[in-house]
Amino acid sequence: MLRLFRIMDVAHQKNAVFEEKKLARNLAPKCKQCRREGEKLFLKGEKCFTDKCAIERRNYPPGQHGQKKGRLSDYGNQLREKQKIKRIYGVLEKQFRNIYYASDKQRGITGDNLLQRLESRLDNVAFHMGFGSSRCEARQIVRHNCILVNGRRVNIPSFLVKAGDIVEVDDKAKSHLRIKTAVEAASNRSFPLWIEVNTKEMKGTYRTKPDRSELPTTINESLIVELYSK
Ligand code: SF4
Repeated sequence: MLRLFRIMDVAHQKNAVFEEKKLARNLAPKCKQCRREGEKLFLKGEKCFTDKCAIERRNYPPGQHGQKKGRLSDYGNQLREKQKIKRIYGVLEKQFRNIYYASDKQRGITGDNLLQRLESRLDNVAFHMGFGSSRCEARQIVRHNCILVNGRRVNIPSFLVKAGDIVEVDDKAKSHLRIKTAVEAASNRSFPLWIEVNTKEMKGTYRTKPDRSELPTTINESLIVELYSK
């Protein structure tokens, strides 16, 4: 009997670890995250381009004291910038810190390396190629085995895509309505210069790492470098 309890306990612990891994993402309401940062982070796909966007309607932080005005300290500004980037790319603190340290060890400007690493994540590349309407949806598509990199199935959202890699939607998944809708919507907008996309074949090439000038100007990565250099 005791042995049975031990086996059940081990199984329960394994399930708990699995659940933990499964939930290792930010589950906070998306529009509240944008309101907290005071700008559009484009976390909800098509809704972000309509006037239903919460930032268009209530551009102040959520909560009882959201409308109170106050000046942030230097540390406050640095912290907000870090939270903003983490929310845009859908990474949590520990993973973000590891990405930062890896960027710091790399040759070149740490801030640029950081953004390039985040942009090279498979979920982000799949999003820019239009296979998901948001980074969150692209992440789910990757997790559901719908994406191939150089002909091989990859289901790890943090996988780093290298220059010249071909990213495509798996043949079976090409008929999925949400992927078709996302590709159609993305083809109506322009794609970044650092990727090349064939929307008919749902296939794209990651040509090169993006240059800083091709990335959003609303991000101030130097504040994050200052924060982690303390
Ligand atoms: Fe942010 Fe999109 Fe919600 Fe607007 S609709 S607040 S951009 S997540």
